[in-house]
Amino acid sequence: MSEKFRTITPAKGWRPDSWQQHEAGQQATYPDEIAFRHALGRLAAMPPLVTSWEILSLKEQIAEAQAGKRFVLQGGDCAELFDDCEPTIIANRLKVLLQMSLVLLHGMEKPVVRVGRFAGQYAKPRSADMETRDGVTLPSYRGDLVNAPEFTEEARRPDPERLLRGHASSAMTMNFVRALVDGGFADLHHPEYWNLGWLEHSPLADEFERIADSIGHSVRFMETITGQQPGSLRRVDFFTSHEALHLHYEQALTRRVPRQWGWFNLSTHFPWIGMRTAELEGAHVEMFRGVRNPMGIKVGPGMSASWLKGLIHTLNPDNEPGRLVLIHRMGASQISDKLPPLIEAVRSTGSPVLWICDPMHGNTEKTENGYKTRRFANIVSEVEQAFDIHAECGSRLGGVHLELTGENVTECIGGARDLGEHDLSRAYKSTVDPRLNYEQALELSMRIVGKHRS
Ligand code: PEP
Ligand code: MN
Repeated sequence: MSEKFRTITPAKGWRPDSWQQHEAGQQATYPDEIAFRHALGRLAAMPPLVTSWEILSLKEQIAEAQAGKRFVLQGGDCAELFDDCEPTIIANRLKVLLQMSLVLLHGMEKPVVRVGRFAGQYAKPRSADMETRDGVTLPSYRGDLVNAPEFTEEARRPDPERLLRGHASSAMTMNFVRALVDGGFADLHHPEYWNLGWLEHSPLADEFERIADSIGHSVRFMETITGQQPGSLRRVDFFTSHEALHLHYEQALTRRVPRQWGWFNLSTHFPWIGMRTAELEGAHVEMFRGVRNPMGIKVGPGMSASWLKGLIHTLNPDNEPGRLVLIHRMGASQISDKLPPLIEAVRSTGSPVLWICDPMHGNTEKTENGYKTRRFANIVSEVEQAFDIHAECGSRLGGVHLELTGENVTECIGGARDLGEHDLSRAYKSTVDPRLNYEQALELSMRIVGKHRS
């Protein structure tokens, strides 16, 4: 046991299946119980997707972010699809995340902890268990880990084989990401190779050009004096995360590890508990109280101070640094009312947390022609307000949590190219929530830097 963790005590009365004694929201009902049990048995025997030392290294980096020494960039799809487990999509998503992280690194002058929302983001919470269309009622789509999005009885039936496909697709994604990060992507350091054509469409073009130029300068400077790429990508840390929703899947990948005490969730480095499953007495909180991973909790406008304090007490009773990340997602219009009392409540616990802002989930709206969308201006506004509110409350915004893709989709409105409602039908691909496209994601990272410097 390392010195650092010696004071931390294992969770009392916890077992990998103790969550089953609690109410579990958002779980699928499998019609074929025997096939389901069989799939879980196979899953439990398969290799893990991540290792305990990677998990503990992320925990240390989050502890450093809590101390203001790092900034966290977490991003990826709302819902990953098995069909999107292909090289171009994976590489483009990794590329935009790495480019954003370079913008943030140079602009904020601190190392960035990069956490993908991928290699396992396959299970989705839904507002209703069933969906009715034209008089036909079928189970809701719960993510590729459970069923398929097409509105047919066959597609919507929960299929246990998908648990194994989810594990395999996560493993393939991880494998490719690790290979790209280890071996290639050298050009990524040079903004002259980025797609920056959108810059000229932005009212902030001059400021963005200056940011891109200054990154270029410092990259060349570092290369000249060290003969190496700055923050060399060969040794880059890249972590994965997903909403830990499907508890049987998570249990099958919760393991003991030789020479480590306690249990780890080895399906991802950084699981988070979503808004809809964060009840204090609920099964998700019970499951994650017993694992040693760093973890996130989504904090929405409905969260009370006492509830949040209860979650901190249950999930981090020893006040361990690096363990908890609070991901607030209030919406641009509510953050100024809702966030300050929660910051105060958390401070009163004396427990270390990292606050990061998800400016996506509180800003979702529906257009007249039925598309779920988000306005870039609201997303920027929520992040900018978050920086100010934390500063005013004597706290610190330590990162952002985004839904984005490296593809040229049209799902969110606005940004430098000023996408409008009429553009949404052109390339709307998300099966669940609208994502920032490549340009909007890069633009957002520049807006964050601009805010930070102002
Ligand atoms: C999500 O992150 O995709 C999600 C469902 O978020 P939340 O739990 O914050 O609604
Ligand atoms: Mn989402």
